[in-house]
Amino acid sequence: MLSETPGATLLAGGTDLMVEINFNHRKPDDVISLRHVPELSAWSINESTGNVFIGSAVPYKNMESGPLAQELPALAQAARTVGSPQIRAAGSLGGNLGTCSPAGDSLPVLSALDAVVHLVSQNGSRDVPVAEFMVGPKKNARHQNEIILGVTLPAMNGRQGYAKVGVRNAMVISVASACFALQDGTPRIALGSVGPTVLRCPQAEAFLSAHLDTNGVVSDDAAKEFGRLVSQESKPIDDHRSTAVYRRHAVGVLAQRLSQRGVHS
Ligand SMILES: Cc1cc2nc3c(=O)[nH]c(=O)nc-3n(C[C@H](O)[C@H](O)[C@H](O)COP(=O)(O)OP(=O)(O)OC[C@H]3O[C@@H](n4cnc5c(N)ncnc54)[C@H](O)[C@@H]3O)c2cc1C
Repeated sequence: MLSETPGATLLAGGTDLMVEINFNHRKPDDVISLRHVPELSAWSINESTGNVFIGSAVPYKNMESGPLAQELPALAQAARTVGSPQIRAAGSLGGNLGTCSPAGDSLPVLSALDAVVHLVSQNGSRDVPVAEFMVGPKKNARHQNEIILGVTLPAMNGRQGYAKVGVRNAMVISVASACFALQDGTPRIALGSVGPTVLRCPQAEAFLSAHLDTNGVVSDDAAKEFGRLVSQESKPIDDHRSTAVYRRHAVGVLAQRLSQRGVHS
């Protein structure tokens, strides 16, 4: 259908798209609903590689708890912070990637774990690392004739965690967010809402890598310096939600705390 109607807009849960239509920011002539495409609504784990595939239409409610949450606790933590139960029942990972806001809660988790985004069209398929998929604020590398099939990312094999700061405790878009993962013994940190897209912090990651003890434990001093480096690598701006100064501070505090906590495998 998409190849026959190249300008058509795809609809998953509609929790972003319907808001844009209601505010007259988008006026699509053709809308293709993805809700009844079973391949998009399933997730699976490849026992031999330890990789998890999550279909683009899997809603947040399926990530919050249960078997998927056990494989990816940081994703579960991020999913629990999204909107309200109604939004989490409808909203999907594919929609978060489709909108590609730097505040999208699933995106720091995908970034920290180096997820791969699978795109399909009538012409074939391609796999794009999530860092290359997110090209700017609300801009992604999807071609108009492509559907996001899903993402592949490794199941947890160290500790991981996600946290966000907003102006309220619930139903809030983040002012700053961070996902920390110790994966394959390597620390990774990805930040949301403090740059044009989700950011990784190579200098902070390299510092922490050199300051982990053999059990992956981070001392108070190392965690503090890690937070400072993360703040330094963030690229926040002032906008209607917060100031750059506050965001820079907040994201450093989140990183410092996450580096010492998190759910363990
Ligand atoms: C009240 C409210 C609260 C919210 N709170 C949060 C929050 O706390 N955190 C957060 O991150 N987001 C939040 N959102 C935004 C939204 O819920 C998420 O971005 C959600 O992930 C969007 O998913 P969806 O399935 O509803 O996407 P849709 O609205 O259906 O689609 C969004 C975009 O992605 C495209 N798209 C969807 N699926 C695909 C696909 N498979 N292939 C290609 N393109 C696709 C669509 O064409 C559209 O451009 C909130 C929204 C509302 C209304």
